[in-house]
Amino acid sequence: MSRKKDLLSLMNIDSSWYKNTKSHKNNDLQYYNLELEATSCEQCILSESRNKVVFGKGDKNSNIFIIGEAPGKDEDLNGEPFIGRAGKLLTEILLSIQLQRSDVYITNTIKCRPPENRNPNSNEISSCSHFLDKEIELISPKVIILLGKVAAETILNTSKSMTELRGKVHYYKDTKIPTLVFYHPAYLLRSPYEKRKVWDDILFMKREVNVS
Ligand code: URA
Repeated sequence: MSRKKDLLSLMNIDSSWYKNTKSHKNNDLQYYNLELEATSCEQCILSESRNKVVFGKGDKNSNIFIIGEAPGKDEDLNGEPFIGRAGKLLTEILLSIQLQRSDVYITNTIKCRPPENRNPNSNEISSCSHFLDKEIELISPKVIILLGKVAAETILNTSKSMTELRGKVHYYKDTKIPTLVFYHPAYLLRSPYEKRKVWDDILFMKREVNVS
């Protein structure tokens, strides 16, 4: 058990959420090459307007894999996912269950910013999807969290509403990886009265998914 988990257990804090027993040493090179490939990708038109490719970031051995929509302005300038206002809220949500950002892996459906933050189109999504598939394969998480409607529609290939998608266990493509839909933090910033529902999402995750 890690020192961090020992300390949390001593404090009677549920630490199962970042239990991390996997060893992915052999995947490091593949991951490095994947990121390198993304950094120079020109498969779709977004490569012409981007400043930086925003690849995933976090613990590459994490059991928890979070997928947002697409990089925004701050992310595009810095090359890091979820560092703007929505990212700060995401950090707070994670902290509410004693998770640091470095305990999880965070990425986006697509790796380049769409101009004016418009929704990514189907060509952009399909040009980029092999990066996400490979990230998931290499990290092999125990749960995937989809933030918001665009990520949910894209990953689950559905047009169902958020109300229909939240509070249910879905699966990533033909894998057995439980995949849950949470509200996107940017939506929660626009609709603060919905914030408490994130807690329902978290409790649902803790109840339904065993990540230990
Ligand atoms: N919103 C997203 O979906 N992803 C980011 O990286 C930032 C904001």
